[in-house]
Amino acid sequence: MDYERFFVDRIADLRNEGRYRVFAELERMAGDFPRARLHRDGESREITVWCSTDYLGMGEHPAVLAAMHDVVDTSGAGAGGTRNIAGTNHWHVLLERELADLHGTQAALLFGSGWMANLTALSTLGTLMTDCAFFCDDILHNSMSEGIRMSRAEWTTFGHNDPVDLDRAMGACARTRPKIVVCESVHSMDGDTVPVARILDVAEKHGAMVYLDEAHAVGVYGPRGGGIAEREGEAHRISLVQGTLAKGFGVVGGYIAGSTEICDVVRSFGSGFIFSTALPPAVASAALASVRHLKEDDALRRLHQERVVTLKRRLREAKIPVMASDSHIVPVLVGEAQLCKQASDDLLKDFGIYVQPINYPTVPRGTERLRFTPTPLHGNGDIDHLIEGLVAVWRQLGLSAAA
Ligand SMILES: *Cc1c(COP(=O)(O)O)cnc(C)c1O
Repeated sequence: MDYERFFVDRIADLRNEGRYRVFAELERMAGDFPRARLHRDGESREITVWCSTDYLGMGEHPAVLAAMHDVVDTSGAGAGGTRNIAGTNHWHVLLERELADLHGTQAALLFGSGWMANLTALSTLGTLMTDCAFFCDDILHNSMSEGIRMSRAEWTTFGHNDPVDLDRAMGACARTRPKIVVCESVHSMDGDTVPVARILDVAEKHGAMVYLDEAHAVGVYGPRGGGIAEREGEAHRISLVQGTLAKGFGVVGGYIAGSTEICDVVRSFGSGFIFSTALPPAVASAALASVRHLKEDDALRRLHQERVVTLKRRLREAKIPVMASDSHIVPVLVGEAQLCKQASDDLLKDFGIYVQPINYPTVPRGTERLRFTPTPLHGNGDIDHLIEGLVAVWRQLGLSAAA
């Protein structure tokens, strides 16, 4: 076999479809978010970031930076081991306690990333419980579908955020089988929100556990930043919640929170937890400061929601086809991969606006989009400039306006 040829062809396929990923090389500027320097072809220029998942700008919050500095100075750079072998630092334990308190659970467990938390938790539960059946929302994040696949357990999908279809799917499954319902509270690409109480009603009716990914909601929703389940007053009914420290909390790392027993099982049997080095203590300390700040102070969340409402209104007024979403994730439909990339390129080149094109397989073909994430730090001037850029690019490329 000509290996090189094979790899070259696979990449050529991606390029032909307009799906080849080109990374923007950014230099984030603490104190100046959402501004960043973009490095390209030996030059650099200042741009405005419109697609960061640092949803609240906590990645540059003074309390977070101070906490990280302090612990780098006192404890050094790395954790020193896996959690079991010399790597459990005081800050991990404090952070796990804080996260359990945030979600009103008995325990929480940290991972290197939210992706790893999903993979490990779901693969472990699905492997341990003999004859376990998963019921998954049919647009699930890659980290969860990979975890379920890894467990080799049977898996059935139900219509996106559809409790009636979940009820139908579960009705066909023996009452005695262990069951886990898996869904995402705020969908990463569509920005719609799960009807959590109704999903919980159906799951309880069929005697199932519920696993809820709150990656896009923690820090951002709920009176203390506990996510959608907290906002809806349903947190106590979730068996296991998963979150990330990398988005609303602005640092890095992932976690699950639930009963002492479930967390202990994942801690004791989950390969992705056991065999991977613990997070740096300074990272845990920074995340702890972020969680604490957002628990006590609602101001950023309120300003964030105001910015979201304003951006959506301005897009509608300018006839830019903003897709329905009831969250801070604001998708704008382009509908074709090459055009989507072109729109993104033009916004960057002509307006210094950076928004990454979102193409298949992240979203279905025909729904290629630009996904905007306004933060509390995007001012009115930033929104004016974005609208001006979008209107010009829409005209230039002959893209369809909103009805
Ligand atoms: C981003 C994301 C994750 C993974 O979190 P990381 O901390 O970035 O690894 C998990 N689930 C969903 C829905 C996500 O969007």
